[in-house]
Amino acid sequence: MTGEYLFISDCHLDKNRPDVTDNLVDFLTNRATQARFLYVLGDLFETWIGDDDPAIELRLIFNCFQHLSKTTEIYFLAGNRDFLFGEQGANKMKSSILKEPSFITPGSQKIGLLHGDTLCTDDGDYQQFRTMVRNKQWQDDFLGKPLAERKKIVAGLREQSKHAMQQKPTDIMDVNRQSVLDCFEELGVSTIIHGHTHRPAVHHYPGGQIRYVLGDWNPEPSYLSWTANTGFALTDPRV
Ligand code: MN
Repeated sequence: MTGEYLFISDCHLDKNRPDVTDNLVDFLTNRATQARFLYVLGDLFETWIGDDDPAIELRLIFNCFQHLSKTTEIYFLAGNRDFLFGEQGANKMKSSILKEPSFITPGSQKIGLLHGDTLCTDDGDYQQFRTMVRNKQWQDDFLGKPLAERKKIVAGLREQSKHAMQQKPTDIMDVNRQSVLDCFEELGVSTIIHGHTHRPAVHHYPGGQIRYVLGDWNPEPSYLSWTANTGFALTDPRV
């Protein structure tokens, strides 16, 4: 497929961060309209407690995505904050949900897309938590609770997670090198793109593999682009 590919993740949209929302509105209204495809690789939202949440504070963002969908195909792969984002949510932003991992073939190369948290295998507590909340039964139970109760539960989990992160050495919240090498092998690709770690970079491996890491928006945009002429380019104020 020709045309430009754009990739973003980790905007962590939150009513307490209007600066990030403003920058995303600008990005979706201007820069992204030049692209043929926009891939959102998770944690677009700081929290997502279910598609039945009216989330009126996000109306402007949804409008921007809807508008963008007239020029650009939008794909959404969930992160650890917005893994409950489902078909109804996707309809609101005129996007298609991708399962993880997903693959694209810009030019002729096959590329793997992930959120990135599955690569952080040094953090055993987190992986255990992930297994719990990705379980269908857990999700059905959670989504069966009233919105107000879900909000409370998620706020509690956030507090626990913040506290836990302060106790953890920062290394274990990055990817595990062996897990990355295994991932290339398992997916049968030599390039992967992910976010999650908030450590924007381009990593090269001895076997020739490349790992593109998208940054969080804080509040400046962080995005990766690909065109046939330019190849990949990471735009991030820290890189
Ligand atoms: Mn994440």
